[in-house]
Amino acid sequence: MTDIATAESPKAAAPATPPLLSVNNIEVVYNDVILVLRGLSLEVPEGQIVALLGANGAGKSTTLKAISGLLKTEDGEVTRGSITYRGKTITGQDPGAIVRKGIFQVMEGRRIIADMTAHENLRLGAHTRRDREIADDIDRVYEYFPRLKERTGLAGYLSGGEQQMLAIGRALMARPKLILMDEPSMGLSPLLVKEVFGIIGKLNRDLGITILLVEQNARMALQAASYGYIMENGKVVLDGAAEALRDNEDVKEFYLGGGGEARKSFKNLKSFKRRKRWL
Ligand code: ATP
Repeated sequence: MTDIATAESPKAAAPATPPLLSVNNIEVVYNDVILVLRGLSLEVPEGQIVALLGANGAGKSTTLKAISGLLKTEDGEVTRGSITYRGKTITGQDPGAIVRKGIFQVMEGRRIIADMTAHENLRLGAHTRRDREIADDIDRVYEYFPRLKERTGLAGYLSGGEQQMLAIGRALMARPKLILMDEPSMGLSPLLVKEVFGIIGKLNRDLGITILLVEQNARMALQAASYGYIMENGKVVLDGAAEALRDNEDVKEFYLGGGGEARKSFKNLKSFKRRKRWL
């Protein structure tokens, strides 16, 4: 007899098990007055790559900082809703505590320490660890990014692509389960963008690292991800399996090359009302 629960089923868009990360209807306010996230919800299932897309200022970086606890350093606060990791709330916790739980944010603009070497930057990524396997892990990062091993000078002199790789390598030093990646393709040549996305896929496949990927490069992000969210003005306006989003006419128009600078609001699309019923 076939057990229905174990019978093979087509890839489902929504996960059956509780997600690794769940952001539930959060509101974020900066400086006590500036409301930036207005009821944002999303889920990241374990072992997957989930893309978070949207125009400049939509609130993507703010979402990542709310998860990693880095909002505090910018006088921002989650004022409503909750963020749970493995079913337990992490809302408002210190960034250090969140890193120790296995969540690491690779910041936009890379934020490596320019007047330290690549090696010193990597050691810094392990600062929350107490174990003695740090040197082995640095060797493993060099296996992923051999070019970094050759660069012995100050990190400030690394190319844009190398700095991005160092930022990802530094995240690996914390042995993360979930990486929050903010615009890894920013400022890179098309060839390097391809290389960086190749590495992101490899980290997910080989090391089982779950990734929440914020990107302006929707095309690359939706190729790498299994699921995607599109946000505008502090909330999600559309979400779905990456494949479905890639074929969605509105997404194509606004995020896959059709839109250009004079993009209208996603919300003003006639078809948006129809699609909204799916949300
Ligand atoms: P981008 O791709 O341009 O970084 P984004 O979608 O990541 O865009 P956020 O950086 O999250 O957007 O910014 C969302 C809104 O929050 C913007 O209007 C921005 O001006 C505002 N904002 C961001 N950081 C702060 C801050 N520290 N204090 C006040 N307002 C902020």
